[in-house]
Amino acid sequence: MSFKQSKLETFFGKTTRSREDSEEPTQPSLSEAPLTSILTNTPSTSSSSVISLPFHHQEDPIKFIDRTLSENERKQILEHKWEPDNKFEYPVNDKGRRYNLKWEEKRPWLRYSPSNDSVFCACCIAFPVAVSETHPEFVTIGFRDWKNATGDKRGALEKHSKSERHQLSQEKSEMFLMTVKGKSIPVTESISKAYQEKVQRNRACLMSIIDVVIRLGHRNIAFRGNWLKDEGKEDGNFQYFIDWKANFDDVLKLHLSTAQHKYLSPKVQNEFIHLCELEIRDAIRDRCGESEFFSVMVDETTDVAEKAQLSICVRYVSKERDRYEVNEDFLGFVEVERTDAETLCDAVLHNLGQEWGFDLTKLRGQGYDGCATMTGAISGVQKRIQDVWPEAKYFVHCNSHRLNLVIVNTCNKVVEAS
Ligand SMILES: [Zn+2]
Repeated sequence: MSFKQSKLETFFGKTTRSREDSEEPTQPSLSEAPLTSILTNTPSTSSSSVISLPFHHQEDPIKFIDRTLSENERKQILEHKWEPDNKFEYPVNDKGRRYNLKWEEKRPWLRYSPSNDSVFCACCIAFPVAVSETHPEFVTIGFRDWKNATGDKRGALEKHSKSERHQLSQEKSEMFLMTVKGKSIPVTESISKAYQEKVQRNRACLMSIIDVVIRLGHRNIAFRGNWLKDEGKEDGNFQYFIDWKANFDDVLKLHLSTAQHKYLSPKVQNEFIHLCELEIRDAIRDRCGESEFFSVMVDETTDVAEKAQLSICVRYVSKERDRYEVNEDFLGFVEVERTDAETLCDAVLHNLGQEWGFDLTKLRGQGYDGCATMTGAISGVQKRIQDVWPEAKYFVHCNSHRLNLVIVNTCNKVVEAS
């Protein structure tokens, strides 16, 4: 893309050499530029106008703008650029500035238009993205505000180079050139770098949010809060910790300030909690699976909405280093339509086996409260489960329930207490 060294040296005289070294061009001597007088007559405000000048080069980017390009034309604008001859001087604008060829060294996409004294972007002309309609500079209108071309803060060239639309166009251009040169890569590998970076950013952001979900869960801290209508967000513990974390988590901070979908709604919170539930239960199942046998413990409860549900736990022995440990893990609540023995038995076996993947051939023990539905020897849940899995014959009347019965009965016998 760059000019040959010999050409550069011949083109810039001794006085202009120092200017070439600087990113910010200074005002040249007018007498040096024979074409200046013609070009400075161009009003700087009408930046999109094309001036009729004695340039009819194939490489002038003006020829490629504002229309759909053929493959050949795309190849041409991407691979070629207009190059000045030895005598050419870049014209000076009304602010005493002019284009600096050195800018092209770091920016191979720059295409100077000699007929328009402005610069375009080859990639964005070859593969314009929709957003360029609202940012036409470098794409359909040439850029010529040379004073603000460079610089970290106001530098338009750097800004364009880092813009999402340019990066997308650049990616497409690179892919296009590889394809026309027969160097196309497999589709699976051809997902653009920009896209992959976006995926990485999104993942990092989700991990940051999920981290808050896990921390609150660890401490049994409720997520909920009131919805603040004016601020459009929830004033709960979850939101509080998200805001706090964004103070030092740059990924999260950027996400909260720029993303359209923030992934913080109560619905999404519940989804995250549900995903954590799946992960935790899978881990329990795997640990329980390492044990030879396990027992199931079930109790029927009614929640605040008067819905009957089963709480299901497993009890098993695991080996931690050199020690054996008895584990009792809660697996989840299961809603049930009715509370008869058949329904409860089906719910236990279906969830434990089919839904959660526990190996029921290892089921040996059952533990429930003392009600007939659960413990009935003829058609209680324990008998029904035993009919399906005969090895699950060790039934224990839950010790906690028994203790409760003892205390209640004892208290009833003590006149002062009852
Ligand atoms: Zn561009």
